[in-house]
Parts: sequence; structure tokens; C-alpha cells
Amino acid sequence: MVIFTDLDGTLLDQDSYGWEEARPALELCERYRFPIVFASSKTRAEIIFLQECLGLSAPFIVENGGGIFFPEHESYKAPPDADPVDHLWRLSLGVPYTEVVNVFREIQADIGWPMKGFSQMSVEEIARSTGLDLEASRRAAMREYDEPFMILEEQGIDLDRLDEEARKRGLRVTRGGRFHHLHGDFDKGRALRRIEAWYRTSHARVLSIALGDSPNDFSMLKNADLPVLVRSSCQYEGLEESIRGLIRTEDPGPRGWNRAVLDILRDKVKGG
Ligand SMILES: [Mg+2]
Repeated sequence: MVIFTDLDGTLLDQDSYGWEEARPALELCERYRFPIVFASSKTRAEIIFLQECLGLSAPFIVENGGGIFFPEHESYKAPPDADPVDHLWRLSLGVPYTEVVNVFREIQADIGWPMKGFSQMSVEEIARSTGLDLEASRRAAMREYDEPFMILEEQGIDLDRLDEEARKRGLRVTRGGRFHHLHGDFDKGRALRRIEAWYRTSHARVLSIALGDSPNDFSMLKNADLPVLVRSSCQYEGLEESIRGLIRTEDPGPRGWNRAVLDILRDKVKGG
């Protein structure tokens, strides 16, 4: 069993970023040695920091599926198209950041809207606009695949035009909670499949659980054996039509995460 999880609003509380309430399920996963794969819009530096806080070492998905990092592992080989970096294997699914930033500036110059990308912001500015402290902002700025940006005056802006400009250049624009994002053509679902394939090189059967709370998680939920939508302020009615077998939690964040994972483990492991 492999657990794929979004972070903000899913394993981590939306406001406090705490995960205390998920501890019982986290400990049970550890006891069974079920890997917990983080799949987030966060950067490699941010996710490694969190993995260390939680004492985890599974593969992880960065920047919404732009890249996957696998730990060096005695029982698994490196994925064929991965390259070694800082004791990890990196599998890039997205366009490298320098290219993304070049395209961002090109679009900026072409359409002349007041937009500002992370690459044009100081660490202090990132801290101010995200609410992160300086150290966390520094980690958030260490990007590899995805350029978050703000539109300084949204009035009169046509987002379809922006998407069109990005597509013309082989990229995509998606809307996140606080920022818009410019990136290559990838998603968390594709990243999940690559990690499953990696586990299958050593295990005959891999059962995937995926947990998420927002639209950038849906591709991951669609590709999982057991998809879990963690409650948020949005209902996403009718999502069951496109995600078969969807489980909805009653509680938001780590509390909902905990209950869902404990229930699944009770069913699938203890029940046989
Ligand atoms: Mg989330």
C-alpha cells in the first residue's frame, strides 16, 4: 500500500500547517512500513524540510507534478530516465524553470499586463505575499519547474488569453489558491503513475490511496485505487461522476486525513 497525499489543507491544517491530528494514522503507516508520498505544489526544499520534520523518506512529487524525487534505496533501482542529485534521483516531468521564466517574461512583454513572477520578487516580497517567514520563503523560492505569479490588477484581464499565450509556447497556466502558475504539461496524476510503476518493480501488487482537497489533486485521485477527498470549504458536488469510488471525509485537514487512513487500513489490512 502506498499513500499519496497533498499537503496544505489535506495532511496539514489549512491555517496552522499542523499535522498533530493525523499522528495516529501516520504512526500506523510507519508500523506497517507503508510509504507516504507527498504530492504538493511545494518545492523540493520545502518538501525535504517537511519530510525531516515528520521523519519520512519516501519518494515525493514537487511543484504539482513537475518533478519526482526518489530516495536512494537498496531494494529499488533508479528509474531509467532519472538523474542523480544530492543523494536523490530526480525524474523531471516538466520544463526546466529557467525556460519557464523566459517564457513568462516573453508573455509579460507581449501582452503588457501588470504581472509579477516569483523570479522577479525578493525573498522579503515573497514572505509578504505568502505569509511565510523568511526561511520558508527562501525554500519556496528554490523553484525547478513552475513559476507562480500575481496579476497586480485583475480588472479587465482575460485569463483565457493568458492560457492561449502559454499554450502557444507549449506551457500551461493554472490557478492556485494565491497565485497563478505557469508550467509545463504535467499533473500530479501522471507523477503518481510513475511512482506506482517504480514500486511495482519490487512488488507484484501496489494498492494506491490518494488524498487531496482541491482541483489540482483531482488527477491524482482519478489515478488512485482509493481516492479520498478531504473536506474543504468547497463541496465539489458531482465529483463522484468523474472519480469512481470517491471517499469523502467528514472533517477537514489532518483530522479528516487521520480518520480516512485509519478506516482504510482497518478494512484492507486488519480485515485482510
Ligand atoms: Mg491542498
